[in-house]
Amino acid sequence: MTDTDTFESPVYYDDDANRDYIDDKTVAVLGYGSQGHAHAQNLADSGVDVIVGLREDSSSWGAAEDDGLRVATPVEAAAEADVVSMLVPDTVQPDVFEDVREELDAGDTLQFAHGFNIHYNQIQPPEDVDVTMIAPKSPGHLVRRNYENGEGTPGLLAVYQDATGDAKAEALAYAHAIGCTDAGVVETSFREETETDLFGEQAVLCGGISALVKAGYETLVDAGYSREMAYFECLNEMKLIVDLMYEGGIGAMWDSVSDTAEYGGLTRGDDVVDDAVRERMDEILEGVQDGTFAREWIAENQAGRPSYTQLRTAEKNHDIEAVGEDLRGLFAWDDGTESEEQEAEE
Ligand code: NAD
Ligand code: MG
Ligand code: MG
Ligand code: MG
Ligand code: MG
Repeated sequence: MTDTDTFESPVYYDDDANRDYIDDKTVAVLGYGSQGHAHAQNLADSGVDVIVGLREDSSSWGAAEDDGLRVATPVEAAAEADVVSMLVPDTVQPDVFEDVREELDAGDTLQFAHGFNIHYNQIQPPEDVDVTMIAPKSPGHLVRRNYENGEGTPGLLAVYQDATGDAKAEALAYAHAIGCTDAGVVETSFREETETDLFGEQAVLCGGISALVKAGYETLVDAGYSREMAYFECLNEMKLIVDLMYEGGIGAMWDSVSDTAEYGGLTRGDDVVDDAVRERMDEILEGVQDGTFAREWIAENQAGRPSYTQLRTAEKNHDIEAVGEDLRGLFAWDDGTESEEQEAEE
């Protein structure tokens, strides 16, 4: 097992969890998407009483029933439950919360997998309920698959409000029942989880990486190189590099690439991500911390997502997407579905 003694945050494992805190309770899992289906099925297979809460017209209703789960409306599910797990999309959680708040009795728990709505006050829970977070650090299908394979999924734990004095013990028991303490659960706060999540996806992961890829692609194409070569170098190879870093850290990546790539990268990388970029990262972080981003995103949703829709369309129409669609057809891994070209060749 990893030596976690040097970690800044406490880490909890199976032995730290007492399942008595969840085994006799009823958990309402609201939503049956990525996280919802995994939490609901893992909890049920762990012997916890689960009821899935979905809108009556939800296409997931039948799927949850086919998976052997009880399904009801969010209000009915919450009425029966001791723990309400809020696993509908973050943007609809405030509305769903208003529907179910009357069903939260003193001592019940409102549980999240992401802190946005609590941290930015979009949900203001009653004072007599526990408010906790168990956030698996994986998409739901892996949370489910790992559990079925007898492996765990690392997760985060946070307590925002401890009305009963048992909030953390119950959250740990929940984490145990969905398989997270098997791999390790790291303690954080709603604030830290929310702010690091938003910063990461904006500056480094989703926003940063896609902008870097597009900028590199455009630089090569504008200089007269072929779109195919630009795609291979700036997008396709990204996965190979990221896989190496994921498995063995940045050092494993440097070890695997050629000395030429290593020297070139070590001498030029900081020129791309220079002090000016670092300053803008600070600005992005400030916008997360002071709530500017949250207010903008909430207003965008209230207005019917006009900018979001426009940005999405522009992104889909970027030249790299057209080249990529054709080139990915060359790869056998292309999602198991053969491209028209491949089919024509056979
Ligand atoms: P999702 O979009 O995959 O699924 C949402 C589910 O909610 C769907 O079943 C949908 O039918 C249902 N739903 C939508 N509107 C509803 C309504 N008004 N009433 C009832 N049900 C409704 O969502 P997700 O990605 O699983 O996200 C759920 C939570 O988990 C979010 O807080 C998210 O931030 C968090 N989270 C997600 C991941 C991930 O990998 N997807 C990882 C960690 C945490
Ligand atoms: Mg209740
Ligand atoms: Mg409780
Ligand atoms: Mg996020
Ligand atoms: Mg190369």
